[in-house]
Amino acid sequence: MRKEIVVNQLIKILKNRYEKDIRKIPSNNLEVFRTLITTILSQRTRDENTRSAANALFSRVDAPKKILKLTNRELKRLIKPSGMFRQKAKKIKSVSRIILEKYKGRVPKTREELMNLPGVGFKTADVVLMYGHGIPSIAVDTHTNRVPKRIGLVEKKTNVEEVKRVLESLIPKKDWYIVNMGLVQFGREICQPIRPKCEICPISMNCEYFMQKTKKK
Ligand code: SF4
Repeated sequence: MRKEIVVNQLIKILKNRYEKDIRKIPSNNLEVFRTLITTILSQRTRDENTRSAANALFSRVDAPKKILKLTNRELKRLIKPSGMFRQKAKKIKSVSRIILEKYKGRVPKTREELMNLPGVGFKTADVVLMYGHGIPSIAVDTHTNRVPKRIGLVEKKTNVEEVKRVLESLIPKKDWYIVNMGLVQFGREICQPIRPKCEICPISMNCEYFMQKTKKK
């Protein structure tokens, strides 16, 4: 019962804060492809580095066929700001080749097919499903993993696959998008990894981390 109340409160808070930021689901395959490549670029780097690499890459090429025409040297140069650019360049070329040859240029729509692509793990697959294809799926990143654990919706030692399962069972499917996107923003702005801003947090009265912290004082 407690979890149900907290989930409802959380959904309300996230809707109030972030509904205005909801992005349109891409309307064509090229945009979905860009979502996939951008998500690969975003692995183990900061948002600003991802943005910078994606802008450099997509200002030159925007489709698998064109990416394959880039020399390896040129591709690496374009995506360098994202870090681990040698590995990422390899993944991007392989992914582009498979999408072109096996899927006729279209990004697959199932988690299994996506996860069979080189460099695509469960998080990247879920991001592409949700933000690329508009297929409801909760993608668990560092924020989506941390915030629900602090609040007490998910046990602390739960692994990310299980966090996804728990969140998808607690949250109505119609709200998966806003909760997913909202938790990421909320984790960046309020429930930050090192010094969470509990004093201004709208869910503090229902947060286990906050209750523990205030009990100790
Ligand atoms: Fe995070 Fe603190 Fe808010 Fe809890 S009260 S969700 S720990 S910011």
